[in-house]
Amino acid sequence: MTEQIGELVAPTRLMMTPGPCSIDPRVYRALSTPLVGHMDPFFIGLIGEVQTLLRQIFQTDNRTTFPISASGSGGIECAVVNALEPGDEAIVCINGTFSERMAIIAARTGATIHRVEAPLGRTVDPGDVRRVGKGRKIKFVGVCHGETSTGVITGLEPFRKVADELGALLIVDTVATLAGVPLNVDAQRIDVCFSGSQKAISAPPGMAPITVGPRMEEAMRNRKTPVQSWYFDLTAVMSFWGKDRTYHHTPPISLIFALREALRIVFEEGLEAGWQRHRQNQQALIAGMEALGLELFVPDPQDRLPTVTSIRVPPGIVDARLRRQLLDEFGIEIAGGIGALSGKIWRVGLMGYTSQSKHVLLFLAALEKVLLEQGFHVAPGAGVGSALQVYSHAEPVGADAKK
Ligand SMILES: *Cc1c(COP(=O)(O)O)cnc(C)c1O
Repeated sequence: MTEQIGELVAPTRLMMTPGPCSIDPRVYRALSTPLVGHMDPFFIGLIGEVQTLLRQIFQTDNRTTFPISASGSGGIECAVVNALEPGDEAIVCINGTFSERMAIIAARTGATIHRVEAPLGRTVDPGDVRRVGKGRKIKFVGVCHGETSTGVITGLEPFRKVADELGALLIVDTVATLAGVPLNVDAQRIDVCFSGSQKAISAPPGMAPITVGPRMEEAMRNRKTPVQSWYFDLTAVMSFWGKDRTYHHTPPISLIFALREALRIVFEEGLEAGWQRHRQNQQALIAGMEALGLELFVPDPQDRLPTVTSIRVPPGIVDARLRRQLLDEFGIEIAGGIGALSGKIWRVGLMGYTSQSKHVLLFLAALEKVLLEQGFHVAPGAGVGSALQVYSHAEPVGADAKK
């Protein structure tokens, strides 16, 4: 008995989640480029271009810069397993699910992981890191730049300073910030920095760009034990991504085609114009949501991550029911809370191609309708009106300026 499975016909969605986000049609076209082999001279030339683009987006001269064949979590894993050996000690700053994930992965190496925590919605205090690290031999300090489970951004400078005092490497998760938020790996002296293709870069999920600086390379050379993971062993993977260009594993060729086009789009707009666009659309979104009577989850405006905004689910509204109506009626997907915040917050992503004024305005109008129909009183038109005020006081920037 064979069941008839029909041809794939997927709905069109506006993805306003903390990833994946919506994708430029040009990236879909690149994704469907006919396959070539990974050892084809054409492809070998192309991966050099992708590496050049990645160095530009990370703003680094680091030789070891390439997209890992894995999602963002693979980036976390690759960074920490190459840094740690059994018996080492490291500090991970924890203020949500993804920073916690770094600590969980790191602890599996047999190293001792010191957790320095902050309440959800806040940033970790670098002074706490200093206190915990004092008198210890700390291999690295791990920080999540944009904690998407809560919508919090952490300034990196004080953590670089503490890591210097401790003689430690600085490892930074920029999965949700690269291309959306100012970041300069060399100027900020980040030793290992990784991201995810499906966030502000706006490519399909499945690749984790990473860059590794000279101090981390030295730490890798000084290892006494092999890296626990064969697949994520950076020195071995670099046989393909380094000058030898010899086989290590088959990379996701189609995803690399798509990533190349997504990176080209980032530079057509300009990195800085893109950062400004993300900031401006977030300001409009926040103004609109506050005018609808909703409460931001992150109390300090300085801590609010430009790519993901978290709001409290208002009293009387059922989280899943509201998100379902947004999806069914408008094709808009937003995310709920995860972990301790499940059912308590919504997370609205404005990343990459999704971060456009027309998407913000559509979302606010849709949210207003759905809130009203589900029994939450809002002043009609207040959300869109407040967002328009933000836009009317500012010049359109980046990709928004071309519309
Ligand atoms: C999404 C995300 C991850 C995990 O990425 P996956 O692609 O889901 O594995 C890690 N860190 C942060 C900050 C993220 O936003």
